Amino acid sequence: MALRIRKGDTVLVLKGRDRGKIGKVKSVEPAKRRVLVEGVNIVKRHLRSRKETEPSGIVEMEAPVPIANVKLICPNCGEPTRVGYRFLEDKRKVRFCKKCGEVIE
Ligand SMILES: [Zn+2]
Repeated sequence: MALRIRKGDTVLVLKGRDRGKIGKVKSVEPAKRRVLVEGVNIVKRHLRSRKETEPSGIVEMEAPVPIANVKLICPNCGEPTRVGYRFLEDKRKVRFCKKCGEVIE
């Protein structure tokens, strides 16, 4: 099944702690229907060192958020939008913005 959000998309967060934040999609986990968005849903992970020479500590990293909680920002009109699908003349299936109607590559 095709996902409406892809790597490299800019999305708006609709729910949760980071509601209203805008970020770029770093990766998509289709099986879990989650996306990793730059700067969104930052969690602290404790690192335990395996060797005595390595420091242990806390690192901050993004945790994936449900795709349902983000909305694509159209690169053409700059508005948060729903995505539709259409076929081009060469039969390629592409996404398009339901606000401005432009194809989103
Ligand atoms: Zn648009």
